[in-house]
Amino acid sequence: MQTPFEYRDGSMFCEDVEVERIAAAEGTPVYLYSASAIRGRFREYDEALSGVPHRVCYAVKANGNLSVLRLLAEAGAGFDIVSGGELYRVTKAGGEAAGVVFAGVGKTRDEIEMALEAGIHSFNCESEAEIALIAALAARLGKQASVAVRVNPDVDAETHPYISTGLKEHKFGINISEIEQVYERARGLAGVRMEGVACHIGSQLLDTSPLIEAAKRLVELVERLRARGFAIKYLDLGGGIGVPYKPDDARPDVAGFLAAIRELVKEHGLTLLFEPGRSIVAEAGALVTRVLYRKPGTGKEFMVVDAAMTELIRPALYGAYHEIVPLRKSRVPGTVTADVVGPVCESADFLAKGRELPQVMPGEYMAVMTAGAYGWVASSNYNARPRAAEVLVEGSEWRVVRRRETYEELIRGEE
Ligand SMILES: *Cc1c(COP(=O)(O)O)cnc(C)c1O
Repeated sequence: MQTPFEYRDGSMFCEDVEVERIAAAEGTPVYLYSASAIRGRFREYDEALSGVPHRVCYAVKANGNLSVLRLLAEAGAGFDIVSGGELYRVTKAGGEAAGVVFAGVGKTRDEIEMALEAGIHSFNCESEAEIALIAALAARLGKQASVAVRVNPDVDAETHPYISTGLKEHKFGINISEIEQVYERARGLAGVRMEGVACHIGSQLLDTSPLIEAAKRLVELVERLRARGFAIKYLDLGGGIGVPYKPDDARPDVAGFLAAIRELVKEHGLTLLFEPGRSIVAEAGALVTRVLYRKPGTGKEFMVVDAAMTELIRPALYGAYHEIVPLRKSRVPGTVTADVVGPVCESADFLAKGRELPQVMPGEYMAVMTAGAYGWVASSNYNARPRAAEVLVEGSEWRVVRRRETYEELIRGEE
């Protein structure tokens, strides 16, 4: 299944549920996700790696809803986390700590202790100071942590600057030229086993060749480390595979990419870890919104909708493009060129700019597509807007997996 969304008799369905029914029952803005699509994407990774020791660790930050995590845990996923809060979510959703890798440049003492106590698979470390702290905390708890250093392979991911992470100038990882010395200096630390190598060079890569280039550099590094006596067991190649947001974006060939990686590592006796986020959930999700007003501007129109940058920040943050389509094919002929904007008091509050759209009228619904990743998770309460509900669809069934926030919840914890 490439996308779970399709029109039947002019009305959009997600799997076998008419999306307008969800919007009418739950109100808008509302996020919905297809369980079958999420599971299908996970299996695509998992099956392409069958026969090779591997673990697909879904990147929780892309979409951390408990029900999404639970369905991935049931499908056999591990998890890539970047905070103690994400570890808490994974545990609550029934994910096994033994399948968790902990990434991120700024892990705190409390977060490291929490992860050690839970017994996670490994830490992807981003600095020597962090390795030293993990070693000290683990030793104190009478444990030994499995560590991979996040290598910055100096490969250009050729993606948006905000989501590119694999170049020398980025804050992420340690430069590949320094790695061997870092492992040497960590050799004597009792609290850590230096047994992995990791990288993650960026996100939304539509061309997988930079990922393959990075993998080549890491496999060579593994052999150099082994020659120095380090028993490197696993290679974590991160996430980063992109999805087509625009109709003419290329669709990365995940199976082809994984076949190339299998070929690269086949003589090296390594367990492979991947940390896909976006490519698992993005296309499974949509944000449904209602048109509030149509307002003429100079040379264009504004379509004011009830979803905003508070629900989906990607257009404001990266100038990201999302397809926006009506839930019901318009009966009014012709198109309009419009900025689709939300109610938030910021000029950056837009979902689309100068977009040619069908004649959707106030009161009618539209769907912002490919919104399953980095959507709800990055939402905020700015302008005192309660966060949207989330719905999980499976076959002809759907259920609310997060209620819309109430005004009371908005002031929870305040005096
Ligand atoms: C964000 C992130 C991922 C997931 O990236 P996607 O582009 O969503 O696949 C994986 N690993 C690390 C370390 C990350 O920071």
